[in-house]
Amino acid sequence: ECVIVLFNRDLRVHDHPALDAACDRARSVVPLFVIEPKLPSGHRGGFLLDCLADLRSSLRDRGGDLVVRRGDAVAETMRLADEVGADAVWTSADVSGYARGREGRLAAECERARLDFQLFGGVTVVAPGAVVPAGGGDHYRVFTPYWRAWQATRRRAVLPAPERVALPAGLAPGRIPASFPGRRGRSAGGVASGRSVRHGTLAGGETAARERLQRWLRFSAADYPDVRDDLAGDGTSKVSPYLRFGCLSPLEVVTRAEGVGGEEFTRQLCWRDFFHQVAYAFPEINRRDYRPGGGEWRDDKDALDAWREGHTGIPIVDAGMRQLEAEGWMHNRARMIVASYLVKHLRVDWRLGADHFFDLLLDGDVANNSGNWQWAAGTGNDTRPNRVLNPIRQAKRFDPDGDYVRRYVPELEHLSAKIVHEPWKLPSPLRRYPPPLTPPPTA
Ligand code: FAD
Repeated sequence: ECVIVLFNRDLRVHDHPALDAACDRARSVVPLFVIEPKLPSGHRGGFLLDCLADLRSSLRDRGGDLVVRRGDAVAETMRLADEVGADAVWTSADVSGYARGREGRLAAECERARLDFQLFGGVTVVAPGAVVPAGGGDHYRVFTPYWRAWQATRRRAVLPAPERVALPAGLAPGRIPASFPGRRGRSAGGVASGRSVRHGTLAGGETAARERLQRWLRFSAADYPDVRDDLAGDGTSKVSPYLRFGCLSPLEVVTRAEGVGGEEFTRQLCWRDFFHQVAYAFPEINRRDYRPGGGEWRDDKDALDAWREGHTGIPIVDAGMRQLEAEGWMHNRARMIVASYLVKHLRVDWRLGADHFFDLLLDGDVANNSGNWQWAAGTGNDTRPNRVLNPIRQAKRFDPDGDYVRRYVPELEHLSAKIVHEPWKLPSPLRRYPPPLTPPPTA
C-alpha cells in the first residue's frame, strides 16, 4: 500500500498520528505539503518556510523526503496520487471553515478516484466534538465544565517519531522557496516578508520548537504561575507559534509539562482546545458575534491607524502594538490590554483589531484569535460583556517598573517608573509624548 500523508498545520515528525499510522501500515509513504496561492502574511510566511525546511530535513534523516508542490491542495494531492499510484490519502483534521472545506473536497475526490481517505487527530489534544455537554449541544460554551471533561478524556500516550519513512523511488521532491515574494505584513516599515527580515525572535521548525520547549521546561516552567502576567519578565513559554504550525504536538506539550508548569499551564493549553471546539461548531467565529451585543462600533480610521501603529498616547497600549510589529508576537497580558482598549475605549469593531493581529502574529490562527477577540469585546462565549480593562491600572500592576514600556517605546526611555505610564502628567514643557487619543483613565 502507498499512502500520501498531506501535511498542513502539523509540521512535525513526533507524535503525528497520520504519519505514525502510515509508516506503521504502508509499504511506502509520501509526505506532501502544498503551498497554496493564499500565502500566509509576512511574519508567518518566513516562519512557515523554516518549518518546511526543518521537516524536510527530519524526513530525509529517516530515508524519506518532503514532497513540495504549489497550487490548489486538492488538485495537487490528486495529481501526485495519480503519479505515484497511491492507495490512500491521510491527513490531520483541522477546524477552520477554510480547512474543513478543503477536507470535504479532498474526501469527495478520493471517493471518486477510489482512494482511501482518512482524517487523524493531532492538531488539538482532544478532538473538537469528542466531548460534548451532557445537557445537550454540540460544543461547550463555558470553559470550566469543558476543562473538567477535557481532563477526563484526553489521550495520554505520545507517539514516537517514525524511525524510517519509505519514500517511493524516483519522485521529484520540489523546491521550498527562499521567500514568498511580494507579501508583507500590513504595517509599513520594519516588518517585511519572507526571510529577508527576521520573523521576530523565533526561528521556525520542529527542531527549534523542541529545543525551546526543553529549555523552558527545564529552567522556567516551575515559575510560570508567578510570572505569567509579568510583562517585562517575558516568562511564558512562547510555544504558541510552534503550536500554530504543529511543530509541537499539543498533547506532547501537555504531557511533558505536567508536574512542571503546574495546572495553570495545562489550563492555558486547554483554552486553546476550547476555542478550537468553539470554532469547529461555529465556523463564522472570525466574522459573526458568537453572542450579539457588542454595541455600536465607531467608524474611526484615524484611531484605528494610531492603535495599529502604536501611537495612541497610552504607553502600555503603544508598547504592546510595537512589540507585535517588531516581533510578530505579543505578551498575552498586553494582548488583553490593547484589545480591550480598542473595543471598549476607542469603540472600534473587534473584527478590525482581529484582522490586524491575524496579519502580524506568528501564532495567528482563526480559532484562538477570534475566540480571544470576542472574549475581549464581550461578544464571545464565556465572557463578561461589561468587563473593561483600565490600561493604566493594568500597566502599573503588570509592568510596575515600566521596563516593558521602555523596551518598546524608546521615546519614554528616560522616564522613571513613577511617570512612565502616565506621561501626560509631566509638567507641560517636559511633555513630549503625544497626548492620549481618549481622556486617560485614572488608575
Ligand atoms: P503560554 O502562557 O506559555 O501558554 C501556553 C500555550 O497555551 C500557548 O502557547 C497557547 O497555545 C495556549 N494559550 C495560552 N493562553 C491562551 C488563550 N487565552 N487562548 C487560547 N490559547 C491560549 N493565541 C494564539 O495561539 N493565536 C492567536 O491568534 C491568539 N490571538 C489572541 C488575541 C487576543 C486579543 C488575546 C487576548 C489572546 C490571543 N491569543 C492567541 C492567546 C494568547 O495570548 C497566546 O496564546 C499566548 O500569548 C502565547 O504565548 P505563550 O506560548 O508564551 O503562552
